[in-house]
Amino acid sequence: LSVELIDSMGDDLRIVNAARVSFSKQSTWAAYGPDGGELREADEGLIGYLMRNRHGTPFEMVVMTFRVTVPIGVAREWQRHRIGSFNEVSTRYVEMQPDFYVPELGAVRKQVGKAGHYRFETMDASDAQAVQVGMRQAYAIAYATYQDLLRMGVAKELARNVLPVGLMTSFYWTVNLRSLLNFLSLRTHETALLEIRQEATEVERLACSVAPAAMAAWDVCGRQAP
Ligand SMILES: Cc1cc2nc3c(=O)[nH]c(=O)nc-3n(C[C@H](O)[C@H](O)[C@H](O)COP(=O)(O)OP(=O)(O)OC[C@H]3O[C@@H](n4cnc5c(N)ncnc54)[C@H](O)[C@@H]3O)c2cc1C
Repeated sequence: LSVELIDSMGDDLRIVNAARVSFSKQSTWAAYGPDGGELREADEGLIGYLMRNRHGTPFEMVVMTFRVTVPIGVAREWQRHRIGSFNEVSTRYVEMQPDFYVPELGAVRKQVGKAGHYRFETMDASDAQAVQVGMRQAYAIAYATYQDLLRMGVAKELARNVLPVGLMTSFYWTVNLRSLLNFLSLRTHETALLEIRQEATEVERLACSVAPAAMAAWDVCGRQAP
């Protein structure tokens, strides 16, 4: 599982300027010092004000593109986030490699309690190992069948049906910061699926390198999207 920041547009100052255009004002990094300088206290204050008062649109001016590699089951949850753009590897066009998700021992868990109030408990090591073995066996059978179907001349778009949701997929995701904060609110929360939570935490780390003041303000304001 991995997340890579491919590109970004805008930063903390873009948010500040988007807000200040209301008063026909703008600042440039060049004016802040020879090396670009740092955000001023008033700028950080404005970002905090926007976040607290849910003036969300200036945060839409910062855009990031990520390359995400996760199991299909995780990608399905990710792609429920409609405010963003996706392009994914095509299992119609590409012969998929036997790259399947097997959780580490510590990530093999039981589901305990009632629907809506589930708790997840780590399984003991020997049971967890048996789970890993079972998953690998199931994947091997599925992949061998996939290969058999391709050898028989079955189209990839049909043969792919025997592959499980543990198959790894890869997609580009372009998203603005406001929508990204909504994603992070939901997907870094302790109730989110462990695997998406781990990758969302990586998205959060990468977003901090693009717009550190906005990310800090979001965290201070209770991690709710503006
Ligand atoms: C813990 C957890 C459990 C979940 N369980 C399920 C489940 O069992 N079944 C299931 O189907 N889904 C489930 N989901 C997915 C969830 O319902 C959302 O589809 C997903 O989290 C995307 O959230 P979003 O709509 O806020 O994001 P986006 O689609 O990115 O939308 C961002 C924001 O834009 C606005 N928006 C977007 N589209 C519309 C619209 N059509 N109308 C009005 N406003 C809009 C809303 O303000 C929204 O918050 C779960 C999500 C989580 C985090």
